[in-house]
Amino acid sequence: MAKSWHTEEPNADRRDTKPYDSTNIFARILRGEIPSNKVYEDEHALAFHDINPQALVHILVIPKGAHVSWDDFGARLGGGDCRLRQGGLLRRAQPGMVTRGYRLLANVGRNGGQEVPHLHVHIFGGGLLGPMLAR
Ligand code: AMP
Repeated sequence: MAKSWHTEEPNADRRDTKPYDSTNIFARILRGEIPSNKVYEDEHALAFHDINPQALVHILVIPKGAHVSWDDFGARLGGGDCRLRQGGLLRRAQPGMVTRGYRLLANVGRNGGQEVPHLHVHIFGGGLLGPMLAR
């Protein structure tokens, strides 16, 4: 894949993330205001199919707390208490993906291209993914 790094505009907002906005689409999914194609749920996290899949299987995993990014997720939980438990989730939600392989991706902040300001992890699988996913 060709590299396409771009420098920021001089006056760009350099904060990585904005404060949590509870009107974001994933918060609305968590509140049951809009539907999702759910694959797994427990008290900590919800997993559902991405509405615009970029692989044969494309699942989003979101925590049930009001977190924009990994930075505030880790800070509020006091460091290393990551409750997404992706290995266990994958085994329940998509048997076969664990043994045949998958890709995890998290876009964070402006430079990371994060569109929805609620922490989420993309899980891609279901077939050979190639060297990297193009957006
Ligand atoms: P990101 O660019 O990492 O913030 O990714 C946001 C992802 O959310 C994109 O892959 C979208 O296709 C996906 N998405 C947006 N709205 C919905 C929705 N209502 N249900 C499922 N996935 C969604």
